[in-house]
Amino acid sequence: MKKIAFVTGGVVSSLGKGIIASSLGRLLIDNNINVGMMKCDPYLNIDPGTMSPIEHGEVFVTVDGGETDLDIGHYERFLGKNLTKESSLTSGKIYQEVLDKERRGEYNGKTVQIVPHITNHIKEKIYKLAENYDLLIVEVGGSIGDIESLAYIETIRQIKYELSDDAIVIHAGFVPLIKVSNELKTKPMQRSVNLLRSLGVSPEILITRSEVELSEREVEKIGMFATVKKEYIFQCVDEKSIYKIPISLMKQNFPRKIAALLNLNISSRDIKEKHYELINFNEKLNNLESEVKIAIVGKYVSNADSYISIVESLKHAGINNKIKIKYDLINSRNYLVNSLKNYDGILVPGGFGNDGTIGKMEAIKFARENNIPFLGICFGMQLAILEFAKNVCNLNVEHGELQIDAEYKIIDIMEDMKDKIIGGTMRLGNYQCSIKNHTLAREIYGNKLINERHRHRYEFNNKFTNDLKKEGMIISGIHPKTNLAEIIELPKNDFFIGVQFHPELSSKLTKPNKLIEAFIKAALKNKK
Ligand code: GLN
Repeated sequence: MKKIAFVTGGVVSSLGKGIIASSLGRLLIDNNINVGMMKCDPYLNIDPGTMSPIEHGEVFVTVDGGETDLDIGHYERFLGKNLTKESSLTSGKIYQEVLDKERRGEYNGKTVQIVPHITNHIKEKIYKLAENYDLLIVEVGGSIGDIESLAYIETIRQIKYELSDDAIVIHAGFVPLIKVSNELKTKPMQRSVNLLRSLGVSPEILITRSEVELSEREVEKIGMFATVKKEYIFQCVDEKSIYKIPISLMKQNFPRKIAALLNLNISSRDIKEKHYELINFNEKLNNLESEVKIAIVGKYVSNADSYISIVESLKHAGINNKIKIKYDLINSRNYLVNSLKNYDGILVPGGFGNDGTIGKMEAIKFARENNIPFLGICFGMQLAILEFAKNVCNLNVEHGELQIDAEYKIIDIMEDMKDKIIGGTMRLGNYQCSIKNHTLAREIYGNKLINERHRHRYEFNNKFTNDLKKEGMIISGIHPKTNLAEIIELPKNDFFIGVQFHPELSSKLTKPNKLIEAFIKAALKNKK
C-alpha cells in the first residue's frame, strides 16, 4: 500500500516549500506515522555536488554518501532521522539512467520519449521509495509552469490517477502584500493553482505564503477561484524562525486533516503530549537567556544558504541550551583581523580552492594566539594544521590543493583518489572515528567510537604527526582502518579543535551535535 503527498509551489520559487514539507513530516511522525521524504529537482546536474554553493546553496551529504539538495538537510533536521541518497532525485539522474538504458538496448527498438519513458522512470523511483513508509512526502523544486518541471507534474497527474485517494497534492502559493495600499493580493495564488489544474493536477490542499495573516474574506476568495474548500486552505505567515512553522501548522490542525484525507491512522494522544519535543523546543526558543556571537569565516558568503547546515546546527545547540546565536558570515577574501575582536567563537567551515584562504588562515592564527574558541570543519581543520605547521613548527610545507607542485605536502590527495573525475568521487558519507582517551574530543563525545559524515578529497599526511606533536598539536581522532586523521586539538588552548568530518550534518532540532554544542558552550564561557 503506497501513500504519497506531493508538495508543489507557485507563482514564485523560494516559498519555503521545503520547510512546509519538513513540518508536515515532523507533525505526522509525532503521530506515529512512518514518514519518508523525497525532493525532485528539475536541473540537469546529476547531483548538486558539482554546483557552486553560491549558485545553489550548500550540498547536503547523507550518511550513505549522497551529495544532495539542501532541502534534504531540512527534512533530516525536522524529522529527527537520517535519510539516504534515494531521497534526492534530479532530472540529470533520471535522464542519465534512461539514456544508459537506451544505449543498452533495453527499450527494444521503441522511440524513447519524455512521456512515457522519463515519467515512468520518475514514477518507478517514487513508488520504490514509497514502499518503505506509511507515507512518502515528495517535494517538487521550482514553481509550477517551469518548462523544466513539466515531467514531474505529469508524473504527479499519473500517480494521482493510479493511486486515487492515496495520493494528494499540497500546493503552496504566494500571496503578496502591496505595501502602499496595505492589500493582500490573492490573484497570483489563484493563477498558480489554475495553471497546475491546466496541467491536469487538482490540489487537495492549499497553503498561502504571506507576510501577514489573510482575512476570512481573502481565504474564501482563494477557495472560490481555486476550487478548494476553505477548510483545506492553511496559512503560513512569515515567522522569525523556521522552527515556528510546524507549531503554526499544528494549531491549524494540518496533520489531522492530511491524515483524514489519506486515511492514515494517527495517534490519539493529547496534542501536547505527542508534540512535546516540538513544543518544548519552541518554548526554549521564545525564552533565550544568554547570547553568543559567532564568526563564520568563509568565501561563499553572498548566498546565505551556502552554510545553512552550519547555521542551523549552531541554532539547535543554542536553543537547546537557551543561548541565542548571533552570527556573521565574514568574507575570507577581504577579511580584516580587527573585525574578529568582538566574537565569542570563530568557526572556519569547509571549502575548496585557493581563493579566500588567506582570510581563513589569518582567522585561525588569531583564534589560536588569542585563545578564542575555535572550530575548524573539513577545509577549516586542514588549514588549522597548515597554519600551525608554518607559523609554529616552522615547517616548509603546503596544502596540496593550494600548491600542487609543492615539495612537502602536509595535506595531500590520497593515492587512490588521484586520477578520478570530479563528480561524486570524494570521501563521502559516514566514516568511523576512534577517539583517543583523555582528549577534549573524548570528553565532548563521551564515546570512543563515533560516526560522522565526510565530503573531501584531501587528507592530513601522517608523516608530520610528530612535528605537530612536538609543538603541542595532537591528533585526537583517527579513522581506525586507514589511520587517517579525523580530529586535531591544541590542548594548550581552552577550545581549539578541527575535524575532518562535518558535524553540522548530523545535528537535529532537538538533538544537537555534541561537538557543535560544546563549541557554543565554550563560546559562552569566553563571552566578551
Ligand atoms: N577542499 C578540501 C578537500 O577536498 C576540503 C573539502 C571540504 O571542506 N568539504 O579535501
